[in-house]
Amino acid sequence: MFLDVFDTVTTVIIYDTNEQHANQMIEKAHALLLEYHQLYDIYNTYDGINNLATVNADAGIAPVKVDSKILDLIEYALSMDELTGGKMNIAMGSVLRIWQDYRDAGIESPETAALPPMSDLQAANAYATFDNVEIDRTADTLYIKDPQTQLDVGAIGKGYAGQQIIAALRAEGVTNLLLAIGGNVCAIGTRTDGTGWQVGIQDPYSDGNLCVVAVDGLNVVTSGTYERFYTVEGKNYHHIIDPDTLMPSVLYDSVTVISSDSGLADALTTGLFCMPIEKGMALIESLPDTEAFWVLPDGTQKMSSGFSSNIVEE
Ligand code: ADP
Ligand code: MG
Repeated sequence: MFLDVFDTVTTVIIYDTNEQHANQMIEKAHALLLEYHQLYDIYNTYDGINNLATVNADAGIAPVKVDSKILDLIEYALSMDELTGGKMNIAMGSVLRIWQDYRDAGIESPETAALPPMSDLQAANAYATFDNVEIDRTADTLYIKDPQTQLDVGAIGKGYAGQQIIAALRAEGVTNLLLAIGGNVCAIGTRTDGTGWQVGIQDPYSDGNLCVVAVDGLNVVTSGTYERFYTVEGKNYHHIIDPDTLMPSVLYDSVTVISSDSGLADALTTGLFCMPIEKGMALIESLPDTEAFWVLPDGTQKMSSGFSSNIVEE
C-alpha cells in the first residue's frame, strides 16, 4: 500500500509463482505511480521535471517542454471532452480552483463557509476552453496561450495513469494484479487461490457496499458526492462541477463505471455525473465493454443493460 501518490490510498497486489519477480513488479508499479503522480500534479512542481503545475504556471508566458506522457494525457482528455459533450472538461481549471478555494476555506472554518459568487465562476468559465491549449508534438511542448486558462486533470489523471501502468506491468509478464488508486480499481487474472477478483461498490449512504462485482481485465471506478464536499447553511456542495451550471451536479449521489479501459472509466464517471440519466444511459449503451450504475439523490438505482451480469452478491 502506498500513501505517497495521487493524494489517495493506493494498493497494489501482484500474485506470481516467482516471488522475486512479484516484488520487482511491485517496485516497478510504485516507481511508475510516482512518475505519473509527479507529471500529472497540478499543484506542486518537482526538481528537474516540467509537469502540469509548470504548464499552468507558464500559461500566457511560454510553451513548456514536457514528457510525452503529459501530451498523451491531454490528447486523451480532449477526446473524452468530446465524447461527453463537454461535461468532462479539463480546461475548466480556473472554475474548479475557485470551488476548491471556497471548499478549503469552508472546511477550515465552517461558520463562515460560503458559496463562490456566480459572477466569479462565470468570469473564470469564459476561459475554460481547449482553444487556448496548444499541443506541439514536434517540439514536445504544451502551451496554455491565455493566463486565465488552467488545466485540472483531477477527473481523469488517476484513471489514465492506471491504464498505462497496467499495460507496462502486463508487458513485463504480470498476469494477476489488483491496482486500486483511490476509487479507481483495476483487476486482472485471479487471486492466489485461483478465484477471481471481486470489487465492492461503495454505498453512498453507508460504509457498506451497494453490491460486489466480479472483474477480470476490467476497471471499476466510482465517483461520489460523499468523497469531497463542504457544507454551506446545512447543504452539502461536492467536488464534481457541471460545466453548464458551474455548480456541483445535483443529478446523482454516485456513479460507477465498469470498463476495459481505466482512463475511459474515470473520464466517464465525471462526465456521467453531469448528464441526465437518458443521455448517460444512451452514451454507455453506445460503448462496447462499458457499463454504469447510477444512484440518484432519492436513492433510486439505475443500471445499464449489462451491469448486473457482473454482480456476484446483492
Ligand atoms: P475523485 O476520484 O478524485 O473523486 P473524480 O473522477 O470524481 O475524482 O473527479 C473529480 C475531480 O475532477 C474534481 O476534484 C475536480 O478536480 C475535477 N472536476 C470536477 N468537475 C469536473 C468536470 N465537470 N470536468 C472535469 N473535471 C472536473
Ligand atoms: Mg473521473
